Amino acid sequence: MIFTSQQPSISIPEDLTTWEWLFESSTSPLSQYKTSDLGGFTNAATKERIGYDLAKEYAIKISTALVHKFGLSKGDVVALFSPNTVWYPIAMFATNRVGGIISGASPAYNIEEMTFALRTAQAKVLMTAASSLPVAIPAAKNAGISQDRIILLEGRKEGFTSIQDLVVFGAGFGPNGQVQPFKIPAGQTNKDICGFLSFSSGTTGLPKAVMIAHHNVIAQSMQVEQITAKENKKVLAVLPLFHITGLVHQMHLPVFRNAEVYMLPAFTMKAMLDTVVQYQITELLLVPPILIRLLRDPIVKDYDLSHVRKFSSGAAPLSSEVNQELKRQFPNTGFKQGYGMTESCSCITAHPLEKSTYEYAHCGGTIVANTEVKIINPDTGVALGYDDPGEILARGPQVVMGYLNNEKATAETFDAEGWLHTGDVGFIDKEGFITITDRIKEMIKVKGIAVAPAELEDLLLGHPIVEDVAVGPIPDDYTGQRPKGYVVLKPSVRHGKDRSGILRSLNELIDYVRDKKVRHKWVTEIEMLEEIPKSASGKILRRMLRKLEQEDSRKE
Ligand code: AMP
Repeated sequence: MIFTSQQPSISIPEDLTTWEWLFESSTSPLSQYKTSDLGGFTNAATKERIGYDLAKEYAIKISTALVHKFGLSKGDVVALFSPNTVWYPIAMFATNRVGGIISGASPAYNIEEMTFALRTAQAKVLMTAASSLPVAIPAAKNAGISQDRIILLEGRKEGFTSIQDLVVFGAGFGPNGQVQPFKIPAGQTNKDICGFLSFSSGTTGLPKAVMIAHHNVIAQSMQVEQITAKENKKVLAVLPLFHITGLVHQMHLPVFRNAEVYMLPAFTMKAMLDTVVQYQITELLLVPPILIRLLRDPIVKDYDLSHVRKFSSGAAPLSSEVNQELKRQFPNTGFKQGYGMTESCSCITAHPLEKSTYEYAHCGGTIVANTEVKIINPDTGVALGYDDPGEILARGPQVVMGYLNNEKATAETFDAEGWLHTGDVGFIDKEGFITITDRIKEMIKVKGIAVAPAELEDLLLGHPIVEDVAVGPIPDDYTGQRPKGYVVLKPSVRHGKDRSGILRSLNELIDYVRDKKVRHKWVTEIEMLEEIPKSASGKILRRMLRKLEQEDSRKE
């Protein structure tokens, strides 16, 4: 069967770019407000603030500079490689205003990864931070981007143009000399115009540049706005802006809703809590590792967080132990989750307002407006009914255009009927809630029987000596594969223990799994790590686990 949304359907404009939709059209949401009532982007560390009126003015001047200084035109790519800064969205709006494409890259990339990102996106201009120059300069060189095309969004360095220089340069053309906004050509809609490239953090194969249309971002912002509390006007932007969550929830959606965005250039628990308390932010959009730390970090008790009303989680599964503990430690809060991926421009499902409670915390919410979901048997392709787990397929206005210059991967992931094949496994219950149970791509096969790493991770994470955990496959002559655990033990458990003491703790975990699971799910090996390798958005980097295994086997 095809599952449909319970939300009223919404009318999504097809004739506007994201820029026009937000800033320069008769329907701009900001036109309803007096300038003094406009929200803005605030850097929580430096307190620098750019209101949406100024954001618009700067973006117009920067777009004029991009055209006149660098010859930027429709379809040209500007790469953004920077920690969160208030200038990031301004640079993005400026680029989109003249039909350019933004390509976000993780500020943690090394030279090789950044070179790959620049080359894949065929970027013409690179905007970065002074602190990222040691990677940005060689990567730009490798990708054929000359140094005069590197712009600093943060910090200054002699010989480099800053984003503020571009504002001044653009201003030089005078109020009547600013370039006109890009218009969608006749015969096309905003579904045909790519505005953003985002590298999917898919854990198999090389990262691919996901082509996101203006329509996708507008649709997703409207879909999420529909289920966002009207009074929630303060957005904590602690998640990285280059990720799809940042693109939608921390930049476009807040402007659409005229909310205030508090950006954190770098995550520390202290900086986050200081910001949450100082600005009295009531709803916190976080990822599971941060939520877990929030429960465990001793500094949390030094803060009065009684004003917090809701936790919001996404990007990776959150164990029921964690959300029960959240409920216990923060009894006055609600909880919601979003499920989706870069290829669905963020959410396919999310908790509706009235069901944002811990009662529903174990699942990923219900289908957002204008969206359909199909659950299929991954082997036969047959569509399944309620409560029957299978691969999740999604179709809707947020499903993206495909992968840049990669027809094969595009055809594999987006089928001819418009369904996005997520590679995730889950089911929908009769109330319409989705539960994510696994990712097919990471399935461990033991004697031909599937074992879900997430299931074992959930279990081990609930053990009192475990701080963090990942489970991955290791080869086995007899069974094909076996699950192996990688754990970070709690500091109190590690403290003062010699090797045999640690080994006893690890064996305790092996016995724990044996006690709780059927034989084919037993974890027969556990290795202690200092930390679990994770992407900036909090997902376990399973290929790093495989690399560890290869290194270990070479040593043997
Ligand atoms: P990304 O493209 O980096 O956003 O990663 C998308 C993937 O993250 C999905 O395909 C899921 O495997 C996983 N994911 C996202 N949200 C959730 C969620 N709420 N629960 C479980 N897994 C999730």
